[in-house]
Amino acid sequence: MKLSQTFIKTLREAPKDELAKNGALLSRAGYVHKEMAGVYDFLPLGLKVLENIKRIIREELNAIGSEEVLLSTLQNPELWEKTGRFSDQQVDIWFKTELSSGGIVGLAPTHEEPITNLMKTYISSYKDLPLSVYQFQTKFRNEKRAKSGILRGREFLMKDMYSFHATEEDLDRYYAEVEKAYDRIYARLGLTDTHETFASGGIFAKYSHEYQTFLPVGEDTVYYNADKTVFINKEVYNDEVLKDLGVENDSFSETAAAEVGNIFKLKFKYSEPLGLQFNDENNELKTVYMGCYGIGVSRVMGVIAEKFADEKGLCWPEPVAPFKAQLIGIGEAGVKVAEDFYNQHKDKILFDDRNLRPGEKFADAELMGMPYRIVISDKTMAENAAEVTSRKTGETKMIAIDKLNEIL
Ligand code: ATP
Ligand code: MG
Repeated sequence: MKLSQTFIKTLREAPKDELAKNGALLSRAGYVHKEMAGVYDFLPLGLKVLENIKRIIREELNAIGSEEVLLSTLQNPELWEKTGRFSDQQVDIWFKTELSSGGIVGLAPTHEEPITNLMKTYISSYKDLPLSVYQFQTKFRNEKRAKSGILRGREFLMKDMYSFHATEEDLDRYYAEVEKAYDRIYARLGLTDTHETFASGGIFAKYSHEYQTFLPVGEDTVYYNADKTVFINKEVYNDEVLKDLGVENDSFSETAAAEVGNIFKLKFKYSEPLGLQFNDENNELKTVYMGCYGIGVSRVMGVIAEKFADEKGLCWPEPVAPFKAQLIGIGEAGVKVAEDFYNQHKDKILFDDRNLRPGEKFADAELMGMPYRIVISDKTMAENAAEVTSRKTGETKMIAIDKLNEIL
């Protein structure tokens, strides 16, 4: 991408009402545009980050045999009334709207009810099980506080996966596979400081697990033991739970964290009220066991932005960065060689070919946060080389022009 040819611009100021670091930097660097509190547009660079996050998640979920679907946003209240979740007492974050032909529909805050109902068409026998599906979908939630940039949206992108099983053992087996897939996902996203954390399980399971990334502005509080093997959400941190987990003698520290995902053994929570059943080997009618597994895709982008940024700007881990490098040519020969290099690697390079002073381009490269800055100038050309600076470490190296492709 050539910066002279895209409509995006870096901005000196973030929107006045933007209090969160992630929102401010992403706005200034041209990744997002704030519509209103908790509602953001994703611009070309921001969309690339989202797509990179989705690609990693998709690869890992396909690898454990889940199939991708896309369910509707408009929701029929009848289904949700069966589980009691359309009433404002039970779920107070619904956006509801009126049909011109009369009646009310909701904008999906999550999809347990519709996916359970949908599967009644496809699951009837033990031979149809196990089964797992996932989607990337925009969710709508009328969140009371939406002051954390893209960490908490009223409209946000979620990956939600649902699994269906004949037995509890099979649900447990798949749950353990998902745990491993989630570990791989967060590692590949560069979020290595993410920990599987015990959280409240509700009525049907003792615990659920949240994936919590340690982050000073995170809204959750997590307790962890000295050797960082046990993580417990404050909401369930009590003597009984410590005893349950066999860590009553450990000493625990407290930290702020952001929930980037969660996994849940639902068992019969939705399959029972919605009547999702199957015939087992003995032709007996049984209720389907279910699990659900979420990742906040747009929140993950905000957490990455927030966690790795410094006073100069964003700093993307390589697997999610929109481009590998930001390229700057200086002087006549430098610009020409830079242009040649860009033409060979267009999809990996953001070429700053604008008619600006080098200092302004350097500042923008730091704000926009590609993993490498490559400068080719008449001076570096004297050595037939380019100056390559790592955004993360600030370290600068001279690399020969004919070896430059190796960093991409
Ligand atoms: P939270 O406690 O943060 O409100 P939740 O328990 O409501 O999260 P889920 O309903 O299980 O979360 O949603 C799955 C994932 O979606 C969460 O783990 C989180 O990463 C993300 N998420 C939830 N609410 C939002 C939101 N308003 N904006 C962005 N991401 C969200
Ligand atoms: Mg919530």
